[in-house]
Amino acid sequence: MTLATHAIVGVASARLFSFNPVFAFFAAVASHFLIDAIPHWDYHLKSAKTNEEDPLQSDIVVNRDFIIDFGKMAFDAILGLALSILIFQPSDPLGIQTLIIGVVGGILPDPLQFVYYKFRHEPLISLQKFHYWIHTKQKIESWQMGVFLQALLVFVVVACSFIFL
Ligand SMILES: [Zn+2]
Repeated sequence: MTLATHAIVGVASARLFSFNPVFAFFAAVASHFLIDAIPHWDYHLKSAKTNEEDPLQSDIVVNRDFIIDFGKMAFDAILGLALSILIFQPSDPLGIQTLIIGVVGGILPDPLQFVYYKFRHEPLISLQKFHYWIHTKQKIESWQMGVFLQALLVFVVVACSFIFL
């Protein structure tokens, strides 16, 4: 899913455990894998070389296209942070801490895929296998439908988060 979705859902998950930063972090990381399992749309990365036969051999090539892709991902992550601040409006240090833990934990598994592509060693190999295994194989092709469904998911998760907390 987009990093913005991962960030917001990560914060909603971290908030359940705001009393303990370690639990909060793991809840945010777990939320990443859980929602990746839902069929979804992802924007295309030109620098990504996907190997359908052996997914562990996929790669992101650092070339000219990567600069654009990096810009897309950075925008996506910053959008996630900005929307998280807007939605959750943390007003005390604990709220700010939980928000940062949620954004970082919610997004982290994706940059770790990039680290794996550049450094194919344990524990990254096992993590990549798990990420690939849990990630849906069902892609939503239409970006309009994809964006709509992710916005809906975010809405439902945020609504639950406000009902329970
Ligand atoms: Zn992911």
